[in-house]
Amino acid sequence: MVVHLINPGAFSDSNVYLVVGSRTALIDTGTGRDNARNIAAIRSILGGKDLDMIILTHFHFDHIGGLKGMLDEFRCEAFAGAGDAPYIVNGDQRYIASDLFGDEFEPVEVTELMENDIIDLGEHRLRVVNTPGHTCGGVCLYDEISHCLFSGDTVFSLGVGRTDFPSGSATELVLSLKKLSGMDVRMLYPGHMEAAYDGNRAIRYGLSMMGGFD
Ligand SMILES: [Zn+2]
Repeated sequence: MVVHLINPGAFSDSNVYLVVGSRTALIDTGTGRDNARNIAAIRSILGGKDLDMIILTHFHFDHIGGLKGMLDEFRCEAFAGAGDAPYIVNGDQRYIASDLFGDEFEPVEVTELMENDIIDLGEHRLRVVNTPGHTCGGVCLYDEISHCLFSGDTVFSLGVGRTDFPSGSATELVLSLKKLSGMDVRMLYPGHMEAAYDGNRAIRYGLSMMGGFD
């Protein structure tokens, strides 16, 4: 289980995770404000290995602003959920919300991920779980080997993502949380703030905040 937190995101930037197996993946890129430092950190951890791919949990600027710079550096493929990918490819600023960050997003090609796609990194097998609600096509990535979940802004250690941005939906978010609550989630690696050791508990808490228990 080798997960590195490259960019501790707090609120104004996202967490950026580097997952290292026989293949390597970066999960989210942050705003890009700290790309130079993040790239140096990634290079240092990889120690000559390639970065094989970048996976985006959703289309908000604080998660994808650094994408162009990362791709220029690592020359790898980028992936996003099929629902969110078109907004990234079209650089749709209203959805990406780059103005909230006083910045602009340059459109970037990304490959669409479908529900249950498996990203095999050797020691990690990340399964794509569609979790709309925070955005229309956000995804979580579930590691079937370690049972950890990269949850983007769907669920945090103590709370859930906002649903009042364009394409957000509280109803969809509750359904997504219910779906996650049926899985065995140990470590939770959210898009902002600290990781949680008991992912199941964080998901239940998030669902209770949404009033989502039947
Ligand atoms: Zn977001």
